[in-house]
Amino acid sequence: MNEDNHELGFEELAAKYPDFPRLLIRKLDAELRGVALTERALERAKEEGCLYDAAADLGQETPRPVLGGALFRDGSWVLGMEPMYLQFPNGYKRSGSLYTIDVVDGKLWLLDGDNPVEEVFFVSYPEYFGKKTSRGTPMVKVVSARLPGLLFVYLYNRCDFWAEQKPCKYCSFPTRVFRRKPGYTQEGLDDLYETMNEALKEEGKWMNIVLLAGSNLSGNSPYDNEVDEYVKVLTTLRKSFGTEKVYAKMVASAFSREQLLRLKEAGATTYQPHIEVWDEKLFEWICPGKTKYFGRQYWIDSALSAVEIFGRGYVCTQFVGGVELMQPYGFKTIDEALESTLEGAEFFASHGVGPIAIIHRLEKGTVFYAQKQKPAPLEYYVRLMKGISEIHRKYNLSVDFNNYRCHPTGDLDRLHNAAREGA
Ligand code: SF4
Repeated sequence: MNEDNHELGFEELAAKYPDFPRLLIRKLDAELRGVALTERALERAKEEGCLYDAAADLGQETPRPVLGGALFRDGSWVLGMEPMYLQFPNGYKRSGSLYTIDVVDGKLWLLDGDNPVEEVFFVSYPEYFGKKTSRGTPMVKVVSARLPGLLFVYLYNRCDFWAEQKPCKYCSFPTRVFRRKPGYTQEGLDDLYETMNEALKEEGKWMNIVLLAGSNLSGNSPYDNEVDEYVKVLTTLRKSFGTEKVYAKMVASAFSREQLLRLKEAGATTYQPHIEVWDEKLFEWICPGKTKYFGRQYWIDSALSAVEIFGRGYVCTQFVGGVELMQPYGFKTIDEALESTLEGAEFFASHGVGPIAIIHRLEKGTVFYAQKQKPAPLEYYVRLMKGISEIHRKYNLSVDFNNYRCHPTGDLDRLHNAAREGA
């Protein structure tokens, strides 16, 4: 997407941005192009206890092998393997040819075509997979995991913006494998308590817990019932941890000050109402549900007022990097797209809200996938991650609760911190 419309590939970008770690360009490229395992690699994963068969949990007879996870040599996640994870069964529109993971000379490698480019390592799945609660619920249905390091509690897999036919256009949330309706019962909370206790027995396995749910418009006012569900889960987790506060990422809708105070009282320590896209017109086009309930400014104000409650750096907003380049309304060049998104990131950072960016995946089940949109180019992501990490440093914002070796911005922050400490 430069002047002659040629998208730069890995080697060209590594030469153009020599200060950007090659490994992180590879990580971004793998996410965009996707990664598949050869039969030999699958066999190795099985031998190493890293492949879990989820068929019984899913009530299926055909094996459904699920990978624990895979790491690069710096301990950060290999991205681009979503079809190998339990919660993401869908198809993806990728750019270019898939990378593969194969066994070469006895070791596991990421291959670009026939060339081994990075040694990689599988991660074992957690021991609570395959166990059941005292009520007989498979624990894997109660708490999901993405390895290494993350436990996911999907409070429910419904978003009322879908019911109103106003979903965010990149969203595939309702397609997750284990679906739960809103409204935890006491039995559901007991299952959560038991599962969490079992998961926490594996010391050193977890870096963070993510709580997330779709936007819930029911209740006395929109989002009230969503807050109720978070309060129930936070209260249960406090019991599991034996603490007054719950150190977990809480990804949620834009709440009012009163709603946020309720969450803080229930033990919440962080909060993430994601803005997704900064440009006003594009926000309205891409996030029509958020626009209706209750508009871009409301989502911004919610994040800003949360800083007063949870503190600087404990509130975060996420950009789905690349959606601002979707057509016909998106930006036509990566320069324009970057200028807009980094302006948004800087605005939030200057108010104590940590910005992060993820890579937009064109997943089956989303509006953008149905529209046959095209993924944003690799160069865009290199520049976006670099820009956001620079903003973190400029505002001295550590977003440690998001630093679990997935987001390349977190990887860059970690490298800069290590360099500073070593200086
Ligand atoms: S708020 Fe948007 S991104 Fe989040 S679940 Fe609803 S439709 Fe999906």
